[in-house]
Amino acid sequence: MKELARVTIAHLPTPVEELPRLTKALGGPKLLVKRDDQTGLAFGGNKTRKLEYLVAEAQSHGAKTLITAGAIQSNHCRQTVAAARRAGMDCILVLSGEAPEMPEANTYLDLLLGAELVWTSLEARGNTLNQTYQEAEAAGRYPFLIPYGGSSPVGAAAYAYAVRELMAQGVDADWIVFATSSGGTQAGMVAGKELFGFRGQVLGISIDEEAAKFRGMVTELAKDVTKLLDNAKDITIDDVLVNDDYLGGGYAVMGDAECEAIQLFARHEGLLVDPVYTGRAAAGMIDLIRKDFFKADETVLFWHTGGQPALFAEKYLRKILG
Ligand SMILES: *Cc1c(COP(=O)(O)O)cnc(C)c1O
Repeated sequence: MKELARVTIAHLPTPVEELPRLTKALGGPKLLVKRDDQTGLAFGGNKTRKLEYLVAEAQSHGAKTLITAGAIQSNHCRQTVAAARRAGMDCILVLSGEAPEMPEANTYLDLLLGAELVWTSLEARGNTLNQTYQEAEAAGRYPFLIPYGGSSPVGAAAYAYAVRELMAQGVDADWIVFATSSGGTQAGMVAGKELFGFRGQVLGISIDEEAAKFRGMVTELAKDVTKLLDNAKDITIDDVLVNDDYLGGGYAVMGDAECEAIQLFARHEGLLVDPVYTGRAAAGMIDLIRKDFFKADETVLFWHTGGQPALFAEKYLRKILG
């Protein structure tokens, strides 16, 4: 097994906790949570694990400026600028959306952390990102491009190692359920399951993509991760379980289901999930429990990927408060 170069930023291992009151309220199965919302970098989240390896990769290229892109409330962008600061680098974020009059939640934190923001439309984002990179290079800023969501094979490998971490904690689970979007977290977990022999199933709740399109991409990325860390393993599309029944009103649109999940987690367990990712995945998991998708004697581990700063965005808190 290859150990990729990393910088140590995250607080690892993240804790695993039981959710007995939520388990009881929903009538089982047994629920656990893996607290990757507590990775410790500027409010944490799953991108911190990936960035440990991506920043090391950037340093090996002599980079001085990290550049990445995301949506206006991107958790990935917030953690990228924080990681850049920890590594003594600059950071340019290409954000899709309108520059807000009053930056809030993640965008506020991006600015607090000293990110340079470049605003663009979703359609133009790829071009703007390339242009931003070229300008930084021409200006002698030694840029390094962090892929969308940190989901290159190197970034995704962090979640293969995370499965090893979970196993070393002595945690056994029949299912791992989590929010999947750019696919790196899932690809890493699928690779990690194969590489380290984790027995449970890895089920991604899709946030914004139809499964038919998404699963092939995650399969390829998972294969790349196994190739990077070991010999290529025989990963097939059947290993990539994605449920796309919970896309709701689309990306970053919090509906009643997400709102209910946020309240259930908060009021039964004092645990905060977010409006965009973990709230949607939690809503999907709750619905699957209500439909008896899991067996009563199974253990389901909800892998919390973070995102809580978005709870402070006005449009969400207004709806949550009712
Ligand atoms: C980015 C993100 C995800 C999705 O992870 P991917 O690796 O992009 O699939 C899930 N939850 C939160 C809070 C995120 O910020």
